[in-house]
Amino acid sequence: MKTLRLWSACLALTACASTAPASRTSPAATCVKLYAIHCGRVELGDSGFMADDGSMKGVPAETVVPCYLIRHPKGDLLWDSGLSESIADMPDGMRPQGQPVHFEVKKKLTASLGELGLSPADIEFVSFSHLHFDHAGNANLFAGSTWLVDAEERDGAFSEQAHRRGEVPHYSALEHAKTVRIEGDAPYDVFGDGTVSIHQAPGHTPGHTVLLVKTAKSGAVLLTGDLWPLRESRERQLVPVYNASREQTLESMKRVEALAKDSNARIIREHVPEDFAALPAFPAALE
Ligand SMILES: [Zn+2]
Repeated sequence: MKTLRLWSACLALTACASTAPASRTSPAATCVKLYAIHCGRVELGDSGFMADDGSMKGVPAETVVPCYLIRHPKGDLLWDSGLSESIADMPDGMRPQGQPVHFEVKKKLTASLGELGLSPADIEFVSFSHLHFDHAGNANLFAGSTWLVDAEERDGAFSEQAHRRGEVPHYSALEHAKTVRIEGDAPYDVFGDGTVSIHQAPGHTPGHTVLLVKTAKSGAVLLTGDLWPLRESRERQLVPVYNASREQTLESMKRVEALAKDSNARIIREHVPEDFAALPAFPAALE
């Protein structure tokens, strides 16, 4: 039903788009909407672990944790699911003992989706830049969606090592979800029309990915996961100490910069508050 409604809206918009300059976009791009949803914030007392050159030692950082909903006539894609919405029930958020860090969720993802008349069961596709708890914190709500995942990230997701490190619980329900494994190096075209594509950017984790979204009126944006977690990271090419591979991370930074240039895309560093704030405030959408 929902998809049919979206198609009707799309056809109406396509008619409107015919009056716009022809060079701007294809009719399909007209129908893509990107919603930036606030799914938490993390306050770091010391962001030293975000740079293996030691340059961030003792520097505090304030970061945002977003979720993105991409609405396309062929379905909805949730890209990154934020911190667990259970944190919203904790009056002062979460302060892990002995660590200079504070996690907070002001509004549940399910409440935000509800504002659009959606529940997690309505979301056709789910994908994550990677599976860390601040990107896949609500993954278990989407076990009924089709999970689009880099093959290497999927292989590591339920490994003995991942279990040992306690990483699995926040996405455990995906183990038996309908899954599309993204193999190889080529981009994965989510809806088959080039408007929404997943690109390889390994290094932070072995199968870390970024998302390219092309909208009709606002152009293209690149959601870059944890490639550049802090506002200082991109300019200074900072590599977090816990990344899986320094070499791959630096290579991915180059690739994603080139992709942004080629596709004329605006880079959105997902945890950087000003990048998030530059997107339309939910429930408005970039389109
Ligand atoms: Zn991460």
